[in-house]
Amino acid sequence: MHLPKSAEILAVLGLACSHCHKVKSSNDIPGLLRCGGCRRIAYCKAECQKADWRNHKAMCQAIQSVERDAEAARKMAAAYDPSTHNDIETLGRISSAHVDQMVALCEKLLKRPLSNCETNLLSYEPKCLTCARTDMILRTASSAGGILTPCERCNMSFGCCDEHWGVARALHQAPNDDLPGKVSQCDMNLQKPADVAYDTVLTKEQEKFFMWHAIKAQAVWTPLADRTWEDVIGIDVASGATGTAFERYVPACTRRISSLASTVFTVLYALEHLNPTTAWTEKSQLTINILIGSALDFFEGGFLYEAILHRAPKVKKVILYFFLPTAVPGSVSQAWKVDVCGDCGPKGRSIFSHFIMTKTFESFVHNEAELFVDPDLFIATSSSVIAAHDSALWRRTITLLVARRIPSVFTTFTKNTAESGQAVMRECGANLMPSLTGVRNPFGDMRMNPNPDKVYGFHSPNAWFVGGFR
Ligand SMILES: [Zn+2]
Ligand SMILES: [Zn+2]
Ligand SMILES: [Zn+2]
Ligand SMILES: [Zn+2]
Ligand SMILES: [Zn+2]
Repeated sequence: MHLPKSAEILAVLGLACSHCHKVKSSNDIPGLLRCGGCRRIAYCKAECQKADWRNHKAMCQAIQSVERDAEAARKMAAAYDPSTHNDIETLGRISSAHVDQMVALCEKLLKRPLSNCETNLLSYEPKCLTCARTDMILRTASSAGGILTPCERCNMSFGCCDEHWGVARALHQAPNDDLPGKVSQCDMNLQKPADVAYDTVLTKEQEKFFMWHAIKAQAVWTPLADRTWEDVIGIDVASGATGTAFERYVPACTRRISSLASTVFTVLYALEHLNPTTAWTEKSQLTINILIGSALDFFEGGFLYEAILHRAPKVKKVILYFFLPTAVPGSVSQAWKVDVCGDCGPKGRSIFSHFIMTKTFESFVHNEAELFVDPDLFIATSSSVIAAHDSALWRRTITLLVARRIPSVFTTFTKNTAESGQAVMRECGANLMPSLTGVRNPFGDMRMNPNPDKVYGFHSPNAWFVGGFR
């Protein structure tokens, strides 16, 4: 899954400049100019529009061609039922089918596959919370027209008329059990511009200062069960920010750190749940195998893996093996000793990282038998594709883990993918542990993005546990 950054989400929703990503609400920007062609995206000034034209032209013209094709537009509009109220599943299906159609039509016009950014332009198109119609559908479906209006509070969810807003409001503002802190869709939406503001204000060095606070050394291992990001790192971030200009960014900073540290805290949480006792916290050496979604997941927050040494202070040495879902042809694998902090170094604590690019986890186990040691934990992060049609490799991996009795945990983006993946894990013989199966991960990435092509729901890396077993 390609994950658009917070600013990109606002841009594809028309709430930030599509070129420089300035947000509409910033005081120095009076408003945004909508693209007069496709009416999908907006710019903060004519220069930005001009600069972006090379990039936007193809999609702008394709979207307009689709709208001008009366037959295609009429067919698409016919799939909507303006009276569908609050049936999120049905609305989601209609909306996904619409996006698939739009992608197919645009690809046919452009005679090439769409890029991720171009697909996002279609899948994140604003839609009514109650009937899922988009502005384009509203323009073509009824002579009366109609236009989506944003929620006056969050600006990021939409309704096509007062009546539909009347129906949607309760759902939009109701606490959602599936979201961290059980916040509402409206509250979750409001975090997005705050995250963008944070990203623009803090420098990398300032951010690193808060990150070290967030993973500061603990005297003894303290269990993570029943705790949240706020009490595990938020308090330390806040203490670092007290009296500085960054006090007001503490919630956004905590979310940003949760983004980068989600995998390492999920590792600790999983070890705690998969081990019957705390003996693992007293081992001199821990070996962790991590199947990451993409190399990008790793490079920004790699140093945060030191949290393992800091939270389990009796552990002396951490050996990390990173794998990717597919091998990268022509790449080289890397191994290095990680620089640790001034406290860990003199105490002889160390971290060794191995980045295995040339082989999948499964072929590494089979072909590097003399190198491979059964790890204390195998974690597959953001494994949203377990149940996809090409899941043979996932099945072989799970079967291998089960056969070798390796403590394992799989995470994913959404509740739905957690549920579908679980079934596959059971078919492969995994005896799943309830505390790590089909439940929300309290240490998932707090920076959640709205689900593309849906009217409701959010996703983020590690947000849900698919399953855990040993
Ligand atoms: Zn701009
Ligand atoms: Zn346009
Ligand atoms: Zn509507
Ligand atoms: Zn709202
Ligand atoms: Zn350290």
